[in-house]
Amino acid sequence: MQKKLLEKLCCPFDKSELNVRIFTEEEDNILEGLLICPTCDRYYPIIYGIPIMSPDEYRELKLEEPILERWGLMIDQRKNSFILDERGQSKTDQLGQ
Ligand SMILES: [Zn+2]
Repeated sequence: MQKKLLEKLCCPFDKSELNVRIFTEEEDNILEGLLICPTCDRYYPIIYGIPIMSPDEYRELKLEEPILERWGLMIDQRKNSFILDERGQSKTDQLGQ
């Protein structure tokens, strides 16, 4: 997806502007990345240049999990929703200090 499209995207649930983390890019195109809503904490992956922004019921946690794992991220299983487990990550950071 073109980087300039980011400005037009917002969370489908609450219309918040999304934060972006880019993992793979090519010129002005984001090939792999993550859009994160600061309001509801949902994440939306960008896979093969396509942002996955479907409502929860049309998404498959099981399909997205291996992709997130490859990026070193985890889904928060307790919330059973499309929310990342950032706490687990920061715990790892602390152990590394
Ligand atoms: Zn949201």
